[in-house]
Amino acid sequence: MIVTRKPQFLRIRKKNSATISRRRARTQPGPRPVNHALTFPLVNDPAHLTQLTGVLHKADADTRSRLLTGLQQKHGNQFVQRLLVQREEPKEPSATIDLKITWSGMYHDDKVNTHDIKADVVVKSKKGGATLASGNGNGSVTLTVTRGKSYYVIITPTASKPDDRYQTTSKAWNSKKVPTDTELNITTPLTPERWNLRNVDYVWRAKGIDTTKASQIEKATLFGHNIRINKLALAKVNKANELFAKESPEIQKEITDSILIIGGYAKRTTSEGTFSNHSLGTALDMNYNLGTKQNYHFKKKVKADTALLDLVQLVVRRSSGKGSFDIWKATGQAQLEASTIFNQEFPTYLREQMEALLPKPAPTPAATPWLESLGRSALDMLIKALTHKYVFSQYTQADIEKAIAAAKKAGKKDVEAQLGVVHSNYDVIKAWLEGAPIEGGTTKQEGMIPIHKDFLKIMLAAGWGWGGDWSSAKDYMHFEDEDATKQISTAPVSSGHK
Ligand SMILES: [Zn+2]
Repeated sequence: MIVTRKPQFLRIRKKNSATISRRRARTQPGPRPVNHALTFPLVNDPAHLTQLTGVLHKADADTRSRLLTGLQQKHGNQFVQRLLVQREEPKEPSATIDLKITWSGMYHDDKVNTHDIKADVVVKSKKGGATLASGNGNGSVTLTVTRGKSYYVIITPTASKPDDRYQTTSKAWNSKKVPTDTELNITTPLTPERWNLRNVDYVWRAKGIDTTKASQIEKATLFGHNIRINKLALAKVNKANELFAKESPEIQKEITDSILIIGGYAKRTTSEGTFSNHSLGTALDMNYNLGTKQNYHFKKKVKADTALLDLVQLVVRRSSGKGSFDIWKATGQAQLEASTIFNQEFPTYLREQMEALLPKPAPTPAATPWLESLGRSALDMLIKALTHKYVFSQYTQADIEKAIAAAKKAGKKDVEAQLGVVHSNYDVIKAWLEGAPIEGGTTKQEGMIPIHKDFLKIMLAAGWGWGGDWSSAKDYMHFEDEDATKQISTAPVSSGHK
């Protein structure tokens, strides 16, 4: 029955609908009605049904009413009802979402231990953005916020001393899409308060620290600078001072002048809440500038740190005889040397990348006939010396952005990634090349590792361990007396912690 009826059904409809349409065109004033004649015969096709509902949706009230009347006459009431149901738009999602924020306190030395922590919570659309909601809770809180692609959550523990075991901690949530769920979960561990003495006691117990030995802190002098150090580390301090005394007065002055800040004893944990040799007074930190990553603690597990050291390695390898330099494996003076080579090579490296990518070459220092007479290699050396401090006055961050876009367009993925590292570390590299004041001071120091080579030579010879020699991290500011630490701890204390 269906087989015989279908052609007839289509044929009749085609004829009738065309007639309706033409009649309308003649009798109705105003805008010319849309010709729906072709849509009518295919009412059983889902695609055409959708098309038809679209037409109905867009039509003005009068046209829609006439179309519906025509459709009702031809296809029946049920058909029109079906169309009307299909015409309903999907419901608009709610403008708000419930944000469930959960936090916990956690130590690396005791991963399972979490604490109930009361905190005030503020949610912003982004860092520095307008406040969307605020509240408080004990380990978690649910706040209703405007639906968005990003949230910046600031959790401030309310406990005061001596219970202030955690710092204000922020967590950013970013997505390409606005979430469609009614609830969104954001979970974060809190950053430990490194100076909280309960935290120090906690990690001391985990490490089996002899508290009597750990408390023997004394004042000492290292190369003319005052330090506080554990009694057990004094032998290596004295040894270093003896070796220092054997140097020429000129070298001694250079070393003493190169030490801008030197820290020793500090009863605290690491920034991650783990054990620190500084809490025992068996370690020293020197000439650090955390804002510019000079003598920075680079961690292999932190992507941004590894990316920057990879760039240093890449640039160092360009230098003659350094083709196989491995920044994670190299130790001692080779690490220090890398810092110097980077400053010499980087401007040329950057210029080459920029000139290859951007149509307009950057200006080079004018070469005079006198300079030309020096010969090519001398000229290259001179250009390097002249440009290494001023590379960033030639290339702005915007220039580098343009080059990154050009590298992307050209499919040069490696260059794109390398320039991306330069871009995100622009201020850091600028400080290395041009110098920046070391933490807490005004004297500018150049380089990734602002440590005098003879200072390093003496410290290593006196038996101090250096964070620049580690392979799982590079803590260039850090020197420690591992023998003294072993005498204070009954549990093994691994190197690589600061
Ligand atoms: Zn340190």
